[in-house]
Amino acid sequence: MIHEIFPVGGLQCNCSVVGDEQSREAIVIDPGDEIDQILAVVTQHGLTVKQIVITHAHIDHVGGAMKLKQATGAPILLNQNDYALLKMLDVQAGWIGMQSPGSVTIDGSVGTGDKVSAGNLVADVLHTPGHTEGSICLYFEADKKLIAGDTLFAGSIGRTDLPGGSYKKIMESLHGPVLALPDETIVVPGHGPLTTIAEERESNPFLVTS
Ligand SMILES: [Zn+2]
Repeated sequence: MIHEIFPVGGLQCNCSVVGDEQSREAIVIDPGDEIDQILAVVTQHGLTVKQIVITHAHIDHVGGAMKLKQATGAPILLNQNDYALLKMLDVQAGWIGMQSPGSVTIDGSVGTGDKVSAGNLVADVLHTPGHTEGSICLYFEADKKLIAGDTLFAGSIGRTDLPGGSYKKIMESLHGPVLALPDETIVVPGHGPLTTIAEERESNPFLVTS
């Protein structure tokens, strides 16, 4: 598995480029901004982007999706429960004082039970509402890796005070599908450093005290 993780944009959203070494097909997750850099990583590994997956419709995660779609022809996937947030990109841009990227057109909704694949790479989609209604995580079982979006961070969890947020739901998502994953699972949060399920199970203050 080829996996490049790098922060993009002013809010430093972790973008992942995940590639299959044999077919050279790839999935790009959360192309929030800096599409030229993402395309450079794709080219450097000789990859063809087959899927663009958005963990949730906050502007720092979805802002560059249309530009990446135009450059690669790959479809954009997002859980349908975040379509309303996606229509608020102009409002979201105002929150953080950035320019709106314009409207984003989604090609399909993904939720629990769905799989996203590129070549031999397969990820299970976990619908994990709480940070937003349509937040999802992607679990690459073969490599024991979780792309967690803003649901889980090293030592913290996603904020739930923005529209569509729910502390009750994020707790249900974390104590449900997320902590059900194996201890050794590497967690790639939407911002900040990597962690593991074991580490968060044992020391994340939001998970050990609830
Ligand atoms: Zn977010």
